[in-house]
Amino acid sequence: MVTKARKKVAQSSGRPAIDDDFRAQLRAVGLKATSGRLAVLTELNRTNAPMSHAEVAERLAGEKLDKVTVWRILVALTEVGLVDRTDIGDRTWRFELRNTAMGHDPHPHFMCVTCKTVQCLPRDAVHIAPRIGRGVIDVQIKGRCEQCL
Ligand SMILES: [Zn+2]
Ligand SMILES: [Zn+2]
Repeated sequence: MVTKARKKVAQSSGRPAIDDDFRAQLRAVGLKATSGRLAVLTELNRTNAPMSHAEVAERLAGEKLDKVTVWRILVALTEVGLVDRTDIGDRTWRFELRNTAMGHDPHPHFMCVTCKTVQCLPRDAVHIAPRIGRGVIDVQIKGRCEQCL
């Protein structure tokens, strides 16, 4: 594949290092680094919590990406393993970068029953005895967050 000369990134976001990282990640899984995909990855990277399709689409409304396009991008990124999706139990898929501050490993999530915000928890926040099940990846905890206590 021919590598295109990389354009100097002089946009408002101004995070060329992260942008280059995402370009490399997309190339590694055989996807073109389109501006839409980069925008979605960058948006997911902004927050340390999983976001629903609606939330991502809303944040990218100024980027000329319609909801359907954002959905297709999220699905494509999930299929190639750059993004994980999780259902916290409210029948809403939420998406997050697989490679987050929490690392590559699956980790538990906490959802506030009042404001519905979801937080990623450290992997060792919950200990699951091996005899219960190996490869248990879907741990959801519900309660009230600090703001709603
Ligand atoms: Zn809350
Ligand atoms: Zn998470």
